[in-house]
Amino acid sequence: MTGPVAPELLDRARAGDARALARLLSLVEDASPLVRSVIKDLLPLTGGARIIGLTGAPGVGKSTMTGALVGAFRAAGRRVAVLAVDPTSPFTGGALLGDRIRMQDHATDEAVFIRSMASRGHLGGLASATPQAIRVLDAAGFELILIETVGVGQAEVAIASLADSVVVLLAPGMGDAIQAAKAGILEVADLFVVNKADKPDAHQVVRDLRNMIALGQRAPGDWKPPIITAVAMNGLHDEGISELVSDLDAHWSWLNASGELKRRRQARAREEITALAFTTLRDRLMTNGIDELAARVADGTLDPFQAAEDVLAQQKELRFTRG
Ligand code: GDP
Repeated sequence: MTGPVAPELLDRARAGDARALARLLSLVEDASPLVRSVIKDLLPLTGGARIIGLTGAPGVGKSTMTGALVGAFRAAGRRVAVLAVDPTSPFTGGALLGDRIRMQDHATDEAVFIRSMASRGHLGGLASATPQAIRVLDAAGFELILIETVGVGQAEVAIASLADSVVVLLAPGMGDAIQAAKAGILEVADLFVVNKADKPDAHQVVRDLRNMIALGQRAPGDWKPPIITAVAMNGLHDEGISELVSDLDAHWSWLNASGELKRRRQARAREEITALAFTTLRDRLMTNGIDELAARVADGTLDPFQAAEDVLAQQKELRFTRG
């Protein structure tokens, strides 16, 4: 693909062309050398979307809830995009993940865009691709971007934290409150959903969760994560879905009014810059070689602090070359 193609794709994506949008996302996912210029072009068009992350153990009902949320947002006339992200499996193709998303209801709705992303074997690839995919969807004019992650490991938590609002789902029998605490996801939650409230043990999950979050410290004016009980698979019969939507709206208002939105977005940008700079430096050290310095440190003629300082000093001469 040559230079002018990417801006043209962006224009088409903004006009609602789903195939152009899918191609832009493929560039991002494949870490194409064009990504850098694409992101630069679309950056002025970003910042308008609201990003909502959903995480929780496999089987708690994330896909079902994502589908229900899409339905609720569409009923309110909002354009929605969904990114289903699987950071754990380098072998899962997009199609398989796509199958997990039970959103056939929305398949023909042009105001809904659904995309699965898997890591396709690049280690750490998704961590850098996901923020770019969000930017593409944001620039394409989606008001709401839902990010659904597959499990509750470190990577999933990190990806869910790319969101302005993080929803943590729990359900009786799986992904209970104790497990969630162990996985470190209680702290990242802005909202809790105890799904499968049609099951008898749901109230126990709510009780455990209440006890656990009561232990955390909170200053006056801080957001207090609500616990919403829901039945995601109830179809038209709403149980907890409109409550979730209105709590998400309340969280969004709080983010804006408190200045927390700006703070979070800056913190994420800081993380992103640091990660890019680290990766670039690492790549460079791998390719340019530090064998000579390493040999001297190993034989005791150079101290490692000086060696590291020499390496950093050399970097000033080199420009950022990563795509
Ligand atoms: P995910 O792995 O977290 O994305 O979970 P899924 O959305 O794939 O749901 C896992 C299973 O739980 C599916 O069989 C769903 O039909 C079922 N499920 C989802 N929501 C509910 C619910 O509210 N109640 C009950 N009983 N089952 C549900």
